[in-house]
Amino acid sequence: MADHAAAAFATRAIHSGYDPAANEGALTPPLHLTSTFAFETAAQGGEMFAGERPGFIYSRLSNPTLDLLERRLADLEGGEAAVATASGMGAIAAVMWTLLAAGDEVIVDKTLYGCTFAFLRHGLTKFGVTVTHVDMTDPENLAAAMTPATRVVYFETPANPNMRLVDIAAVSAISHAHGAKVVVDNTYATPVLTRPLELGADVVVHSATKYLGGHGDLIAGMAVGGAEDMAQVRITGLKDMTGAVMAPFNAMLVLRGLKTLELRMARHCESGLVVARALEDHPLVTRVHYPGLDSFPQHALARRQMAAFGGMIAFEVAGGMAAGMAVMDALTMVRRAVSLGDAETLIQHPASMTHSTYTPEERQVHGISDGLIRLSVGLEAPADILDDLMGALDSVAGPRQRLAG
Ligand SMILES: *Cc1c(COP(=O)(O)O)cnc(C)c1O
Repeated sequence: MADHAAAAFATRAIHSGYDPAANEGALTPPLHLTSTFAFETAAQGGEMFAGERPGFIYSRLSNPTLDLLERRLADLEGGEAAVATASGMGAIAAVMWTLLAAGDEVIVDKTLYGCTFAFLRHGLTKFGVTVTHVDMTDPENLAAAMTPATRVVYFETPANPNMRLVDIAAVSAISHAHGAKVVVDNTYATPVLTRPLELGADVVVHSATKYLGGHGDLIAGMAVGGAEDMAQVRITGLKDMTGAVMAPFNAMLVLRGLKTLELRMARHCESGLVVARALEDHPLVTRVHYPGLDSFPQHALARRQMAAFGGMIAFEVAGGMAAGMAVMDALTMVRRAVSLGDAETLIQHPASMTHSTYTPEERQVHGISDGLIRLSVGLEAPADILDDLMGALDSVAGPRQRLAG
């Protein structure tokens, strides 16, 4: 099995693109800590710069450790090529700088991760790009909004933080009919649960800081797509416009994370469903947003588009923001921290933390309620996660009920 193209996901996540025999027999891929690469002759260097000869030139362009990670994730996402970046925001910026120019329009879903929202709203608009928000939970809204200037359609599914889903196949068909490219942030789902490129999207972006790395010890990003698009993203958006290249050491850590991605996602999904159901049954909890629940408005789409429902949950408690903060402060094992997809269960408050880049009015328009709490269900024993959460909810519900009575 020299190339592992026919193997299952978990196998490819461990073996794809790497041959120990070509690396002194090293089982684990070597870490290439080098900024630059020596040419054998001056003429050879010129040929590499001209694109007439393959090979490595300078690590802002490519590096063997990054190259292996790029080929492996491209394989797992079902794309032709990938580009590794310093952060998820680096990937998003490099892709958008490459695909858009002044005068173009990008249509984005209503709900986006806070820094993506800020990058579009306060960043790209400064350079003559029109940014239009559309509620893509109904693809007909997108069809009505497309204009001749629309070059890119961008969304997250599930969206950070409120878990809204977008029908990737339907939105891709509408976008392509109007000549626009579809970029999907697949950070929440990972290629284990959803492969947007196979459903029609053109580019996938990731915060590899989250599930792909999986251990909360790095910041990294990835873009995946067609060979032509990715070559442009590398040369333009990455090399010249952002310079947001991933460090080789981080690439090695992400490669290590990918080896267990499928196993970890299985556990995140299993515990996510258990926790979502328990939250839904707690009297203090007024609303749970989790695609695996029957009560989730887009549950049918979730079943169609996702292999399972992930480890991310959003919920609201009676008493709004103050009660939510009290629940967070009553936790003893769950960590109060932003980020997600780690082994540790993490909890945070989007309105005052990850989505404070929105004004209060914007949060209201964009569907991020002030009482929303975001939970990243980790890899601890599900019973221990439940104990901590239910204990915290009980401790806040108790005094409230006494006050009411
Ligand atoms: C965290 C996150 C990002 C940004 O990624 P960084 O690695 O922190 O730059 C982008 N999109 C989503 C959905 C995220 O959760």
